[in-house]
Amino acid sequence: TAPLSSVTAGTATHCPYCALQCGMMLNQDRDGAWSVSARDFPTNKGGLCRKGWTSAALLDHPERLTTPLVRDSKGGPLRPASWDEALDRIVAGIQRIQSAHGANAMAVFGGGGLTNEKAYLLGKFARLALRTGNIDYNGRFCMASAAAAGLRAFGVDRGLPFPLEDIPGAETILIAGSNPAETMPPIMQYFEAQRARGGKLIVSDPRRTATAKLADLHLALTPGTDAALANGILNAAIHAKLIDPIFIDERTTGWPATRRSVASYWPDRVERLTGVPARDIERAAHMLGEAATAMILSGRGPEQQSQGTNNALAFINLALALGQAGRKHCGWGCMTGQGNGQGGREHGQKNDQLPGYRKLDDPGHRAAVARVWGVDPDTLPMPGMPAVAMLRSLGQPGGVQGLLVAASNLVVSAPDAASLSARLSGLDMFVALDLFLTETSSLADIVLPVPQWAEEGGTMTNLEGRVIQRVQARTPPPGVWSEPRILSELASRLGCTAAFPSEPAEVFTELRRASAGGVADYAGMAPDRLAARDGLFWPCPDESHPGTPRLFLDRFGHPDGRARFHPVERRLSAEEPDDAYPLYLTTGRVLTHYQSGAQTRRVAELQDAEPAAFVELHPDAARPLGIRPGMLVQVSTRRGSVTLAARVTADIRRDTLFVPFHWGDASNANLLTIDAVDPISRMPELKICAARIAVAPAE
Ligand code: SF4
Repeated sequence: TAPLSSVTAGTATHCPYCALQCGMMLNQDRDGAWSVSARDFPTNKGGLCRKGWTSAALLDHPERLTTPLVRDSKGGPLRPASWDEALDRIVAGIQRIQSAHGANAMAVFGGGGLTNEKAYLLGKFARLALRTGNIDYNGRFCMASAAAAGLRAFGVDRGLPFPLEDIPGAETILIAGSNPAETMPPIMQYFEAQRARGGKLIVSDPRRTATAKLADLHLALTPGTDAALANGILNAAIHAKLIDPIFIDERTTGWPATRRSVASYWPDRVERLTGVPARDIERAAHMLGEAATAMILSGRGPEQQSQGTNNALAFINLALALGQAGRKHCGWGCMTGQGNGQGGREHGQKNDQLPGYRKLDDPGHRAAVARVWGVDPDTLPMPGMPAVAMLRSLGQPGGVQGLLVAASNLVVSAPDAASLSARLSGLDMFVALDLFLTETSSLADIVLPVPQWAEEGGTMTNLEGRVIQRVQARTPPPGVWSEPRILSELASRLGCTAAFPSEPAEVFTELRRASAGGVADYAGMAPDRLAARDGLFWPCPDESHPGTPRLFLDRFGHPDGRARFHPVERRLSAEEPDDAYPLYLTTGRVLTHYQSGAQTRRVAELQDAEPAAFVELHPDAARPLGIRPGMLVQVSTRRGSVTLAARVTADIRRDTLFVPFHWGDASNANLLTIDAVDPISRMPELKICAARIAVAPAE
C-alpha cells in the first residue's frame, strides 16, 4: 500500500513499545513499504523482539484516525468534524463544566508511552490552562509501587539505579515477579552473559514462566505473599550470619526495627504462608548472601498489589541487609514496563509531581517551576486525585465531570472495566487523543487524531534512566495534529497566557530548564549530546556533566546520605479465595502483545500468533471440573465473568488462574480484577483477586 505521508528513509530510532527502547532502523523501500531492522544499541545489542520487528506494520494501518470525530448526542454515532469544530466543542465543554462544578471537575489522564515532552506539556496544561489538580497517568497501574518504595528507601526513584551493563557482573540475581524472557526478550542477553560467567538466577513467580525456566531456583510463591517470602529470606540470612553489619552501620538507618520485624518469619512458617519450601528459602538466602555481588529486580508481580509498596520495600530491606546495594553490579531495581514509564513520572504528569521529579506540595519546588512557567506559584493547584480515585469519581457529585485522555486505553488497562466503561460513557464531556478508535476512545464524545511514534521527535527515558532521542522518520498523515499543537491551541482558546511551545525541540529546551535543580535533572542534556552518546542518564545538571549511570555509589538520596530500612509485615490481599471463589486470579502479559493491545492487536502477525485471551490453569484444578485443554470455560469473580479457552499446564500453581490482559470486550481480563489500591502508592491490585472457573455453559 502507498504510504500516507512524505518520506525520510533509513532513520535510526527506537522501538515504539516497551521500556527497553531497543535501537532500530526504520527503512522505506522504493515501493514505499516500511520495514524495521535492528541496530546495535546498548539496551538490545542488535536484538529485537517480535513486537519490534513488526512495528512498521502500524504506520499505514487502514484503521488509522486522520480526522477529528465528534458525537452530536450521547449514544449517537461519531462523525468526522473539522479541527475548529472539535476544539470549539472542547473549549465550550471545559467552560461549561468548570463554571458549574469548579476547576477540578476537569481532569487529564496521560500515558507512559508519551514522550517526555508530551508528559511535561500535559502537566503544564492541566495546571495552567485547566487550573485543575486532577491529572494522573496509567503509570499509576504500572510503576507507582516501585516508585514509592524507591523514594522511601533511597530518597530517589529511578527504576534501575544502574545500567544494564552491570547485570553480567552480578553473581546472583533474584527476579521477583517479572518475566523479561517474554516481555522484553533482548534484555535476556544480559542475563545470559551473567549465567555464562557462572552467575546464578533466582525467580519468584506463581507461574513457571519462560524466565523461571532459565533459573537455578524457582520460588513458586502463593500470590500475595511476596513480603512474607522476602522477610523469610532475610530471616534465613540473619540466622546464617550472611548480613553485612558494616554496610548496615555505615550506609543505612532503621535496621534494628526491621531485624525485629522479620524475627517471626522463620523458614518453616514462611513455607506455610508462601507455599515455598523452607529449604528453598534458605537456599535463596545463601545464594544472595554469599555472592560478592547480587541484584534484586522486582516487577509487576509484587508491585501491582494493595501492599505493593511494602512488597518492594521488603525486597529492598533484603538487599540492604546483605550489603548488596550502592555498589557496582549490586542493588535493587524495578523492571519498568511502559516505553516511557520512567520519564512519564518525572515531568509533572503524576498528580503530586512537577517537572524534575519535584513535589507539587513543596513551596520551594512550586516556586522553581512557576519561575520557568512565568506564573505566581500560588496559582498552581495542589495535588488532585490519583488515578483510581479519579476514575471512581467520574460523573459523581463533587467528582470529575469532564476528562481528557491521551495515550491510555483505560477500558482495557484499568481495574473493574465494566463499571469504568459506564462511568466514562456518562461523563458530561469525554475527549480522547488517539491513533485508533480503541475500546476507550470509541466511548468518547470527541476524538482527536495524533501522530504515531515514527512521526514525531522527542525524548524517552528508558528503564535505566537513560534519556534517548526518538527521531522523526516521516510526517504524519494530513489531518493529524501533534499533542503539543493541540494543547497549545486549546490553551490559547481558553485564554491561558502562558507559553505552550508546539515543537518538541522547544518543549525539551523548556523541560530542561524546568527540571534544573530537581532530582531528575535534565539541564545538561543538549540534544546533540543525547545523539552522540547513546543517550544520557539523569541527573545531568550541566552540559559538561557526563550523566549518572550509577546512583548511590557514595551516598543514597536522603539528606543524610543513608538508605532507610522499613519494617514490613505480611498482610492479606484485599480479596482472598473463599468457598464461593476458591482460586487466585492473576493477570499478566504474553510475548506477542504490548499493554492493552491497542497497537499490537492491529499487527496481523502478532494477532495471528496470539489472537485471544485465554486462561491458564493447573491439571489438578482442571481435572475435577472436567476441564480439558482448549475447552471454553467461564472465569468469574465478584465483578464479572469472561469466557476463555483453557490452557492446562503444570507450569502454574494449583490454586492460581492466569489470564493475559491485552484484549478488550468480552475477554477483557480487567472485567474480573478488583479496584482495591495500595494505601501508599495508590496502585490497584491488578495481580490478585478471588475467582472461580467452570466449563462454559452451552450457547
Ligand atoms: Fe525491544 Fe521492547 Fe520493542 Fe521488544 S517491545 S523490540 S523488547 S523495546
